[in-house]
Amino acid sequence: MSTLIDTHCHIQFQGYKDDRNEVISRCIKKNVIMNAVGTQMDTSKKAMELAEQYDNIYATIGLHPIHLHATEVDEEESNFISRDEDFDETYYDELAKSKKVIGVGECGLELYHVPEGQNSDKILDKQKDILGKQIKFAKKHNLPVVFHCRDAYNELLEYLKLVTSDQGSPITGVVHCYSSNWENAQQFIDLGLYLGFTGVLTFPARKTNPQPTIDLLEVAKNIPLDRFLIETDAPYLSPQAYRGKRCEPWMVEEVAKKMAEIKQKSVEEIMELSVNNAKNLFTNIK
Ligand SMILES: [Zn+2]
Ligand SMILES: [Zn+2]
Repeated sequence: MSTLIDTHCHIQFQGYKDDRNEVISRCIKKNVIMNAVGTQMDTSKKAMELAEQYDNIYATIGLHPIHLHATEVDEEESNFISRDEDFDETYYDELAKSKKVIGVGECGLELYHVPEGQNSDKILDKQKDILGKQIKFAKKHNLPVVFHCRDAYNELLEYLKLVTSDQGSPITGVVHCYSSNWENAQQFIDLGLYLGFTGVLTFPARKTNPQPTIDLLEVAKNIPLDRFLIETDAPYLSPQAYRGKRCEPWMVEEVAKKMAEIKQKSVEEIMELSVNNAKNLFTNIK
């Protein structure tokens, strides 16, 4: 059986507290390697610890933009108050000592969860500041960046173009759970980045496209074969075949199937391409 890599999941989250071992066993049986992505200090540490414990788990460490300010986060399978944190470089330096840490993130810009009564420009400035610190941190450790973006694609593009020209060298990384149009996608690709597709791609067309002006199927169709990654964002975003169930990393095979259909290639070919792409970006995956 061929290997698959779920390049973005949260196997360390509370949603798996009762049966994490079984979920990981199912992934091992299906030859699925996963990248457990951190969102703040605790979840980054836990991702690294799981990665140290299991061969098929790798970790990405960093600070998600929603954790910069305390806000209530209501996702389809979780509801929690996020604490506010600053990017504590010394703390993350310690975690980065692990050979199983393969990336920095998820970090980025997010204008979806703006706390009530707060100024979105101010929030964006703070998010950019923290993002900049993590891009530098990633460079220092020679690791790629996992970008998170929601309702702020133009802002992220503008920011990354600025940083790239300031530094005079490209940033390596992926815009995970990509959900903007092809025009923006091309610009991220021109910056040298990869785009990650989740189970959202398998939803009925009406739901696949977050806004009428965004055609994810078009993005998937047009993206060069060496620039796409497949992921689950588990425990969120179960692919259509498992809608209503908690998402697990092995379900990434559904994204591969859909991508094969869109690209008019065999599932085997898409699996192989996606694994090569993942290893080209996350060079520490063995
Ligand atoms: Zn995200
Ligand atoms: Zn995520």
